[in-house]
Amino acid sequence: MVRLRVLFASCWCFVAAASFSQGDTSLIRAAVLEQWVRALSHDSMQGRMSGSSGAQKAALWIATAFRQIKLKPLSPKKSMILPATVETGRLRVRINNVVGVIPGTDPSAPAVYFTAHYDHVGVGSAFSESFPKFAPFHKKTDKDSIFNGANDNASGIAGLLSLARYFFSAPRLPNTLVFAAFDGEEFDNLGSSAYVGQQEPGKVKLVLNLEMLGRARMDSSLGHFPIVTYSRDDKWVIDSLNKYYRIAFGDTSRTKYFLPDPYPERQLYERSDNYIFALEGIPANGIMMTNDQDLYYHHPADEWQTLDYGLMELVLRRIALTVYQWLKASGGS
Ligand SMILES: [Zn+2]
Repeated sequence: MVRLRVLFASCWCFVAAASFSQGDTSLIRAAVLEQWVRALSHDSMQGRMSGSSGAQKAALWIATAFRQIKLKPLSPKKSMILPATVETGRLRVRINNVVGVIPGTDPSAPAVYFTAHYDHVGVGSAFSESFPKFAPFHKKTDKDSIFNGANDNASGIAGLLSLARYFFSAPRLPNTLVFAAFDGEEFDNLGSSAYVGQQEPGKVKLVLNLEMLGRARMDSSLGHFPIVTYSRDDKWVIDSLNKYYRIAFGDTSRTKYFLPDPYPERQLYERSDNYIFALEGIPANGIMMTNDQDLYYHHPADEWQTLDYGLMELVLRRIALTVYQWLKASGGS
């Protein structure tokens, strides 16, 4: 009996060591993702329009969450919240990007960015008055005037937080991991533009921008939910993601979970923060499960109840382990 128990004990240690050698994906959980999406898309956030008190409240909420995960500011002298004043047409908007890092073990290794925007389009017509191209969306409003933006993009921020939690649980990588929650995306990516201008990101291996993760249809021809990866010149990123997915999950099938943009004519790649990094010559891809043809896209009914948190958990665990495996294999290059 005793020997057996010892044997079990050592097996258990081995299993535990094996799982923690690549981080604990059970930290990425549907129930937690739901909790975060509900908080960020709550009516009290007033649709998180850039420059509004609702957006400010969201920035503080994200900074608190980053601190709880034990992310560090970009540098000891900096705050987690990086304010900037940006101009859009005749409007001056005070924005707040929120950025935290997990420092890498090799200061010469390029950084890896995970990004997501947290701003949305506010309440009623306030946003479309300053940005007329959104007026048609706001006309849909009758009773409910708050654009809660649960899928767009509280889901991306919940994804960002869960990846930060996961990577914090894993052995440190050579690369510094930067988690950036951008403001001003709905104002034509003004938050990420301000960030790139202010911080000069330097050597960056990869940017993965998380957008609208909460709703998708299974592709019946594939039999799974493809993780759509928006690239232009960086198709090698999709190939690498598929390669390291197979290694991370021991998947011997030829299934490709990461698929390229099926509708480049809609310019979804150019319409989010990844594009601002791509303009700097940085490989920057968008990861999106929903597209702009979605029923709730920029609609007041984009509420937390409409999201599939099990799907988010599945997709984020896939992204987490795949990227971890990739960075580990690259050894800081
Ligand atoms: Zn969005």
